[in-house]
Amino acid sequence: MKIVLVYLPFCTPVSPPYSLTNLQAFLSHNSSHEIKVLDLNVKFHHYKFQDAQEYFRSGQWNDYEEVAQKYHDLTRKVYSENNSQVVQSQKPEFFAEMLKSIEDEKPDIVAFSIVYSSQAFYAQALLKELKVTTVIGGPCVNKKLVADHHFKNELEFLDFLDRKDHSELKFDFPLDFSTDGYFTPQPVIPLKTSTTCYYQQCSFCAHYAKVPYLEYPLKTIEETVVKSQAKHFFLIDDMIPLRRLLLLAEIFKKHGAKWACQLRPTKEFTFEKLSELSASGLTFVLWGFESGSQKVLDLIKKGTKVEDIQEVLKDSSKAGIKNVLYTMFGFPGETKDDLLETIRFLQDNSENIDLVSISTFGVHKGAPVYDDPEKFGLVLKEEERTVLEPKITYTVKDGLSAAEVKMLRKKYGPVIDKINKYPASLNFFREHLFFYRNQ
Ligand code: SF4
Repeated sequence: MKIVLVYLPFCTPVSPPYSLTNLQAFLSHNSSHEIKVLDLNVKFHHYKFQDAQEYFRSGQWNDYEEVAQKYHDLTRKVYSENNSQVVQSQKPEFFAEMLKSIEDEKPDIVAFSIVYSSQAFYAQALLKELKVTTVIGGPCVNKKLVADHHFKNELEFLDFLDRKDHSELKFDFPLDFSTDGYFTPQPVIPLKTSTTCYYQQCSFCAHYAKVPYLEYPLKTIEETVVKSQAKHFFLIDDMIPLRRLLLLAEIFKKHGAKWACQLRPTKEFTFEKLSELSASGLTFVLWGFESGSQKVLDLIKKGTKVEDIQEVLKDSSKAGIKNVLYTMFGFPGETKDDLLETIRFLQDNSENIDLVSISTFGVHKGAPVYDDPEKFGLVLKEEERTVLEPKITYTVKDGLSAAEVKMLRKKYGPVIDKINKYPASLNFFREHLFFYRNQ
């Protein structure tokens, strides 16, 4: 049989899909079927935004902020208009071309990976039209998407294709990424080195829900690095322990690659360790900072200390690593004074901060705040939606309301812009931090 694994519009087309490349490798190593990955997201963006594709691939970025912001505004509008079309039972843009790309493969089975909720709309439109067996999977699948089969993981998919003794299965293999057409000057490969976050305690976070922490073999990670022939790697793990990070660093150093990752700013990241990581090619870190208020960090159960964060940022900057700070406004119980403490922290440490990435608190299924809202002083409400799962809104017993948080975010936006050393648009294209040179 021929099985086509499809990655759908809409998400930012900066790197090949990790989930489907991994699934392709797993199914190919454990069955005799022909498995192909088709990235319709990058295809859509090639049709619709060819000028932007050429611009971002060129690396000639003298007017980056202007171009990137315009592109971001335009894509937001295009995605939203297309999604509305699907809700009204009309076809989204380039539908015929996308459908033809799938049909040209003459597949027996078509599988969709729904990693972002924004991909559910195009999925719904294609599922209605396809005449072959369809399969859906991924974190953003919801009950409103109707396919022939829904599999929760690759084992269920494989069992459907060929029932096998699970003890004979191969889980260890290098991945083979296709890097054509992505919106970066050189390929940036997404790598996952473990199953999930090892810390698993932040109360707003749903990423680690019910998944045990396991580390993938270093030898296989190195084989993937070599096979890709790429020189830039973005580690998409939610969190990596220092001990392991140092081992991964050896691989990147050996192959002369640049890399980036997401970490919690804890005091184990000393200048010495950060210098070692920087020397191996670690270019930027997305730090789970969240707040400059110790009270809020403790409410979140972040397990970090404000004074340690300050030191880590200083040492990281001194070691030559760019610091991007994931910052969250409006965790339940946060007051205006707490939020201002965060702003003050950002200003006081601006010398060691390259980019601030602001988000506002939201409730996600599977997170501790969803499972036990009362404990966090939250009252939740779920509103039905047409294609997506119900929208979860909340009111708080103490601290800032969602509306106040929104208003404060807008008010302090210009203050944060002054702290940023890089264009704020790089928050939508973090992979571009490898290539962006401050003028
Ligand atoms: S927010 Fe990050 S560190 Fe905290 S539990 Fe989630 S993935 Fe782990």
